[in-house]
Amino acid sequence: MSGYQTRQNAISAVTNYKPTTKPLNFAETSPAEVFGSNVFSDKIMKNMLPKDVYKSLMHTKRTGEKMDSSIAGPIAAAMKEWALSKGATHYTHVFYPLTGLTAEKHDGFLTPDGDGGAFAEFDPKLLIQGEPDASSFPSGGLRATFEARGYTAWDVTNPAYILENPNGTFLCIPTAFVSWTGHALDKKTPLLRANQAISKVGRRFLNLFGDKTDEMVISNAGPEQEYFLIDRNFYFARPDLMVCGRTLFGAKPAKGQELDDHYFGAIPRRVLAYMLEVERELYKLGVPVKTRHNEVAPGQFELAPLFEQANLATDHNQMIMTTLKSVAKKYGMACLLHEKPFAGINGSGKHLNYSLSTPSQGSLYSPGETPAENMQFLAITAATIRAVEKHGKLLRAVVASAGNDHRLGANEAPPAIISIFLGGDLAEIFNQIELGDLKGTKAIGKLRVGVDTLPALPMDSGDRNRTSPYAFTGNRFEFRAVGSNQSIAGAQVAINTMMAESMDYVCDEIEKLTKKKVKLNEACQKVIQDIMKKHGHVIFNGDGYADAWQKEAKRRGLPNLKTTADALPAIVDKEVIKMFEKYQVLSHDELHSRCEIYHEQYNQHIQTEADLVVKIATTIILPAAIRYQGELASTAASLKAAGVEPRISILQNITDKLRDLQKNTIALEKLLTTDTFESIEAEARYKTDKILPAMLAVREVADALEGVVADDLWPLPSYQEILFIK
Ligand code: ADP
Ligand code: MG
Repeated sequence: MSGYQTRQNAISAVTNYKPTTKPLNFAETSPAEVFGSNVFSDKIMKNMLPKDVYKSLMHTKRTGEKMDSSIAGPIAAAMKEWALSKGATHYTHVFYPLTGLTAEKHDGFLTPDGDGGAFAEFDPKLLIQGEPDASSFPSGGLRATFEARGYTAWDVTNPAYILENPNGTFLCIPTAFVSWTGHALDKKTPLLRANQAISKVGRRFLNLFGDKTDEMVISNAGPEQEYFLIDRNFYFARPDLMVCGRTLFGAKPAKGQELDDHYFGAIPRRVLAYMLEVERELYKLGVPVKTRHNEVAPGQFELAPLFEQANLATDHNQMIMTTLKSVAKKYGMACLLHEKPFAGINGSGKHLNYSLSTPSQGSLYSPGETPAENMQFLAITAATIRAVEKHGKLLRAVVASAGNDHRLGANEAPPAIISIFLGGDLAEIFNQIELGDLKGTKAIGKLRVGVDTLPALPMDSGDRNRTSPYAFTGNRFEFRAVGSNQSIAGAQVAINTMMAESMDYVCDEIEKLTKKKVKLNEACQKVIQDIMKKHGHVIFNGDGYADAWQKEAKRRGLPNLKTTADALPAIVDKEVIKMFEKYQVLSHDELHSRCEIYHEQYNQHIQTEADLVVKIATTIILPAAIRYQGELASTAASLKAAGVEPRISILQNITDKLRDLQKNTIALEKLLTTDTFESIEAEARYKTDKILPAMLAVREVADALEGVVADDLWPLPSYQEILFIK
């Protein structure tokens, strides 16, 4: 099918769009009624479980302590009864392998009774532990195939839920995925461990500042999910979109995003219908979706839920990604989660809003009313400054992927340089503390130093800096470097662990001084001053997109790891391993296996893209251009025969470009014949330094051809139509 025909199909799909099912009616069933209706919630458990069982389970959920195994029986029985009442025929242990995707294996409840009949059964053992035959998931050497067993273990902290399909429903049980040796093979296990670590250190920290409760310190996440929506006709007409999730070819449209008329504009009807259904599905699963709007690029949108505790927010973000994709089909569209589906058009990210909180204090990143609260706030912020400076490379590594490389540093997302933004007033206060001269700011007023008064801090939370990778936004930090397609688990594991280490450090240093009878508030200022001297250069409130920052960051000695190949090795830095082992979040072996897997994924990804560039250039673009060349040539011949001197400049242009296209494609093919490497790291280097530029060289000629070949002959739908027909 030619691009022209695809366009006709897409246009008719858009103009003739009619809902295929009965419209949703929120007046009949209110969102409040829908919300959580498919979740085996605490409330349902409270109703269905014996009192002591419920109490014991809640205790485990609240404290993170080990579950009493005797309560599994009654819980499994209640879960089964509830699931059957919801029409479930199967159950599945849902887990999150290192591919970043969601995995599930279904088992039926039905068991033969030996008399020709059958009954529904759910053995409590199967609730607690499963053994999916999942030997093909990456394990990075943690699990030899002959002992391929990996176990899924019930994560009691997140609720089970029902997923619907037009032909039935099934029960989903969230689980962790570990090898028989206990190594984490997934994204959830280290997150649970990191939550525990931050809670323990958080307690120590709060005790020091006078909060003597035993409340858990909870890490929270509010991920803002960006995505593209395009008509499905275009999706199927572009092998690059189908296979790689991004376009490997495509000239920049005449009308790009410069006019900004899409940003926060009215949402198109079909898209809004889609969003309403996405939200309704997510409500059922108890995902607190809150905001929706158009994003900067044409065809780009954002959905954000209210923040939740990290583990739940992570599962929910996976559900959001799955739902965005599956519902799109019903509306004749495709949802693209890739970080950079279209070159020259803003890509998609996932801002991760991060905070630590306790039930009674709320966010620990909220500046308080009293001097004591403020001291604690300044201390935790100082711990954050130290963590971000010390572990900038790690933060960069956990967002490294082939897709995200296109976005970071492309003046649409934060640069690859990890810095921290505090906003004017707060940065000023930290500067004053560094200089040992705390006098306050215009907004805050005069302060005295070394006595029991620390300022009341009205925060300029409106002071937003969109270019910073790690920005303070009033009561939380926003980590903006996460890719739209990535699990948020990796970033949170890193942040929680580095925060645990840094808060421990602050406690150690303060205690050293208070033991010498230095007053808490003086000790605190002294420690903050030291941190500022050592790590303060990571604070940057300016324009992160400016070239000047690249130079300034270099002068300050901040790393600028532009590609995945540059970034990934930080995962196995000596210091990083030491930290993760100290807090029992990830072991030496687990980190090395991750480093290996992520390299492999990167290499595989680039390999697939490069192969496809060759294929599309050779079998789709070249033939189209040759056809046009033939048309021009025969026109020229006819003109000549008719005695008219043909103007051959287009013909010459096409002929030159065709020669370049073939030359560049052959060059790429040749580079791809090298397939033995010293190490996976060396392979990643090669892919970054040699393959990617060679792919780009093919693309550049092809995109130039798109600008000259007759529109009805061009085989791939153009950016213009993909992005603007919706
Ligand atoms: P913006 O686009 O202005 O950054 P959004 O409303 O789109 O804001 O998203 C903000 C996200 O931050 C939401 O998910 C919100 O729930 C979350 N959030 C708000 N307060 C906190 C907090 N204390 N900790 C973590 N996340 C938070
Ligand atoms: Mg935001």
